[in-house]
Amino acid sequence: MRSQAWDWAEGAGLTPTQGEILVLLMQRKGPMRLGEIARETALTAATTSDAVSTLETKGLVEKRRALDDGRALAVRLTARGRTAAKRAVQWPDFLAKAVGALRDDEQAVFYRTLLKTVHHLEAEGTIPPHRMCLSCTHFEPSKNPKKTPHQCALLGLKMLDTDVRLDCSVYEIADLTTQKKTWKIFAQ
Ligand code: SF4
Repeated sequence: MRSQAWDWAEGAGLTPTQGEILVLLMQRKGPMRLGEIARETALTAATTSDAVSTLETKGLVEKRRALDDGRALAVRLTARGRTAAKRAVQWPDFLAKAVGALRDDEQAVFYRTLLKTVHHLEAEGTIPPHRMCLSCTHFEPSKNPKKTPHQCALLGLKMLDTDVRLDCSVYEIADLTTQKKTWKIFAQ
């Protein structure tokens, strides 16, 4: 996956880190401060600042005064940056195609394992939180999703394991007790 990312990035004249920042800004649908970008990408402040400056030089992002604090700077995508972000988000297409070739039951096992891996990496602080259903206050897990689907109480959705969302724009983090309870049900 990393080599695919580098292939794309090299072609576009960007590093994967820069691509990741573009995608984050697109997904958040609004300006973000440097500190927020650093926190969500798990990059250092210096690396984030360098990457954003390079993106600004390339005309892909612009820095403006934050609306809620005139002393702070907020970063947002330019029209060119939005186009590049849409391209960057296609990095995992090769993976989606490969997974699409699996049987339904194999896909469910693969996805469930992937979610558990993401959760584990989040818990040990290797990657930042991914705003996923499994730690969201609106998620109602099912002990047997094949029989009774999981549910999103906010959006009124019924979900199989493969419908569980990552990086949901209306995610709200659940308290730790609820998160633990959800994972206990999901991981059994
Ligand atoms: S609000 Fe989003 S993250 Fe939360 S349960 Fe619903 S779909 Fe999942």
